[in-house]
Amino acid sequence: MNRATACLAAGALAAVLVVGTRAQGPADHPTVTVDGQTYTPASILARNMGTPADQETAFPPHRIVGNVYYVGTRTLSSFLIVTPQGSILLDTTYERNVPVIQRSVEQLGFRFSDIRIVLGNHAHSDHQEGDALVRQMTGAQVMAMADDVPPLRAMKPAGMLGGVTLVAHLTAGHTPGATTWTMKATEGGKNYDVVLFTSLRAPGAVSPAVAAMLDRSFRLVRTLPCDVPLGDHPAQYRMQEKYAKLKSGAPNPFVEKAGCLTEARIQEAMYRAVVAEQNPHQQ
Ligand SMILES: [Zn+2]
Repeated sequence: MNRATACLAAGALAAVLVVGTRAQGPADHPTVTVDGQTYTPASILARNMGTPADQETAFPPHRIVGNVYYVGTRTLSSFLIVTPQGSILLDTTYERNVPVIQRSVEQLGFRFSDIRIVLGNHAHSDHQEGDALVRQMTGAQVMAMADDVPPLRAMKPAGMLGGVTLVAHLTAGHTPGATTWTMKATEGGKNYDVVLFTSLRAPGAVSPAVAAMLDRSFRLVRTLPCDVPLGDHPAQYRMQEKYAKLKSGAPNPFVEKAGCLTEARIQEAMYRAVVAEQNPHQQ
């Protein structure tokens, strides 16, 4: 094949791809670059969710810091906070994942039936669909932020157990009750501020009401003391990369003060770009 034919062939292929993209729905924009990495709405979603197998396959359960453990799947976070009076589970993910989470809890040497409180970061099925089943299996109390109560039929916004207090911070926008939880953890005689971020991802179309929520949330997260950033999808805090660095004796890779706002900056850049696209005359 000579060069002209090759170019023609490539051109024809490109044309087919463009048609294909159009036929599948809205184009994937805007594009934002944060810390040299480029993101689109679709790339963020793919990074968060992975494949269906990633969503349902346990990631090796491990201790993150102090009494905070990871018991989720490869792409859906679930955190176990262990206290002398029982455990707190933050995010049950999909109902079908509850047995996966149960196995991870048991692999760490804890009892699933010791879960006393179930908390969630926001009322979407990939994070809280399993709440009712965990409550049924353990008798745990299910708590959520008031604004997400209608979808969850849940109770109140604070988790306290065995000397551990999880503080709920309403960081709305992704959902009206999206909640960032903070707590203190102790390890090796040091205290750490742990921030369990909710999703700060803006919807595809941002209404003025959602914009007001997100503006407030992006301001609020910058005020939270933070040493250990976590997220509702582990990609938000680069879990796999940090997990690979876990070695006894080495500094805890999950302690990453400098990375506390990375995800918020990505989501805020995308949010501002979406709003700018929506209101082209206001710039
Ligand atoms: Zn969500």
